[in-house]
Amino acid sequence: MTTRNAETPRVMAGAFPNDRAMGVGSPVMVAHALAYAQHGWSVFPLAGKTPAIPRVHEVGHPCRGECGQHGHGYHDATRDLDQISAWWRRYPSAGIGLPCAPNGLAVVDVDPRNGGRETLYRLERDHGTLPGTLMQITGGDGLHLVYAHPGRDLPGKLGPGVDVKSNGYIVAAPSLHPSGARYAWAGDGRFNHWPAAWPAFLGVRAEPARPTLSLESVRPIASLVGLVAFVLEAREGERNSRLFWAACRGLELVRAGKADGPSVFASLMDAAARIGLPDAEASRTLRSAERAPHRTGASA
Ligand SMILES: [Zn+2]
Repeated sequence: MTTRNAETPRVMAGAFPNDRAMGVGSPVMVAHALAYAQHGWSVFPLAGKTPAIPRVHEVGHPCRGECGQHGHGYHDATRDLDQISAWWRRYPSAGIGLPCAPNGLAVVDVDPRNGGRETLYRLERDHGTLPGTLMQITGGDGLHLVYAHPGRDLPGKLGPGVDVKSNGYIVAAPSLHPSGARYAWAGDGRFNHWPAAWPAFLGVRAEPARPTLSLESVRPIASLVGLVAFVLEAREGERNSRLFWAACRGLELVRAGKADGPSVFASLMDAAARIGLPDAEASRTLRSAERAPHRTGASA
């Protein structure tokens, strides 16, 4: 476990167990909803992927909560701990809805069933690797890349299978996906990492393509979660090279006292497993990174 985040919420300390067997209706859901609120994010309860609280007006009614009642979809979202507790007493197994723009977030939603991975490859080929950031694995093998909202209008879609969630909301861990798996934060399982800035090139779809960046020219990644994201984004044929690169950078974080070795090792092994690298192979790659010469100036 890393202890770098001094601003961890009191409840759960921001740590989500990567345990997919948590009981539905247990106190787990409300604990996580409260932890998000204490982190500063407003939330609301979900039934599946839709709001759990019944609509108070007909579809198309312009009220966004001005009437003082609940039942306005994601406009109900709050950081009020008493309200959140009351909602989850009423809907104990409810999923957690996390509005994007109102929480300062803009999310790239990658759906592999609709060609999302291929679209992501094309985007990275044309524009360079997406900045590593806070990431969530959806229960359906999809991916949420969570960025800081740039405060301007964003495209709704970046291509087949890749949507931008800005005005809407995302389902947050550890909500249950229809597949039966739970949403989970990638890497160390924590959500309280600072999201990276929205990559400007995603906001302008007509922008001419820039040359693809090489691995070594990718901007420095300063956090473990960024390194995990970097590994998770690996395409066929570059999984080991990305893992090796991430391991070298991770070791630099360890030597600089910014991460602890076991966390780096466990997170990268987990990321490697998610992209389909066998444990033995991943472990070999990590060990060879340990033996690699340090970069000058990077070691403590
Ligand atoms: Zn209303």
